[in-house]
Amino acid sequence: MPASKLDKIIQNDREYLYQNYGERQQVCFTRGSGAYLYDQDGKEYIDFFTGIAVSNLGYGNPALQKALHGQVDAILHSSNHYYNLQQINAARLISELSFPGKTLFANSGTEANEAAIKLARRYGMSLDADRYEILSFTNSFHGRTMGAMTATAQKKIHEGFGPLPRGFKYLPYNDTEAFAREVKKNRNIAAVILELIQGEGGIITAEKSFVKQIFSLCKKYGILTMIDEVQTGIGRTGTAFAFQQYDVVPDVVTMAKGLGGGIPIGAMHTKNFLVEHLGKGVHGSTFGGNHLACAAAEAVLGEIKKPKVLNNVKKASQYIVTRLADIQKKTDIIKDIRGMGLHIGFELTIPGAGLVKTALGRGLVINCTSEKVIRIMPALTIPMPAVKAGMNILEKIIMEEGKAQ
Ligand code: PLP
Repeated sequence: MPASKLDKIIQNDREYLYQNYGERQQVCFTRGSGAYLYDQDGKEYIDFFTGIAVSNLGYGNPALQKALHGQVDAILHSSNHYYNLQQINAARLISELSFPGKTLFANSGTEANEAAIKLARRYGMSLDADRYEILSFTNSFHGRTMGAMTATAQKKIHEGFGPLPRGFKYLPYNDTEAFAREVKKNRNIAAVILELIQGEGGIITAEKSFVKQIFSLCKKYGILTMIDEVQTGIGRTGTAFAFQQYDVVPDVVTMAKGLGGGIPIGAMHTKNFLVEHLGKGVHGSTFGGNHLACAAAEAVLGEIKKPKVLNNVKKASQYIVTRLADIQKKTDIIKDIRGMGLHIGFELTIPGAGLVKTALGRGLVINCTSEKVIRIMPALTIPMPAVKAGMNILEKIIMEEGKAQ
């Protein structure tokens, strides 16, 4: 049998690329339109994953396309030696959608967190020479560069990379008392970094009482609150940022993924009082906040500001969660349904890899994290017919899988 298009792609992937992502799903997407993806053979898929919550506006959003085409024709890059209108415009929108403050652009989520970690160290040192510790939580995920990786409280992510930077301490997630004990006895803490939904950790949501306690103790002891919204930000949970559903305002928020709608960009946004700690020459990046990336962010944030986008998140979320709850009543393999907005996970009693593969074969893209948690993160703009069609496929395969157990 002659090799298929996909066979050839796989062969070349093995020949030319690092295999650090393991075996990929057996598909190569070559085109997207709205909430749909198309593979190497033109087959159509409903996208419930958006490339790990990146393509928040789906594919081919007219405002994003227009901004990118215009920017490609005007200028791609000039460097941070010069003023940059797109950076200013994107940062203004971030301030409007989060809290008044200042933004520092990076190229990815890990780099945004790296900036936050460096900022926390400089802030801590300004108070006391020993004040450099950063608290994070078990099962968190903050990225793969040395600082963000060390903040990531998962042993398997650290393996083989030691010695790791000193000054990171891990506490149990959602354990209010353990947090209170630590901050009351430890005078060396500069900052705490946390996700309000642990995305890679299995869609585990922070309890309101836990977050409230963190914010009140951090305020009391002068510890910076840093919320990692790399996955939850940019409308994903039904508000521009997830912290807005917790009635708190962090000192630092980091974002990436959805910010560029598919163009790589990350950002750290902070309250104004922190700006002096990363002054001239202290931190930077050649590409950080490049014209093209910031034109994308400006267009994405402009769309997120429109009530119809976040209204759609609520409507689609309600429908998906209700359908999942109905399916759960009919099968034993769904253990739990979690999440906020269109950042939804359901935990299975069995490994989820098979379900992901079957779904792909039937034209639905989903993802599994933490072995048993299926993640549903479609475009925030996904139309209801696509949501319903995706859930019909999902229900069918869950029921089949349930019966096979
Ligand atoms: N922080 C969180 C919460 C994430 O989910 C991720 C990626 O999944 C990162 C940081 C790292 O982002 P990036 O892969 O863009 O470096």
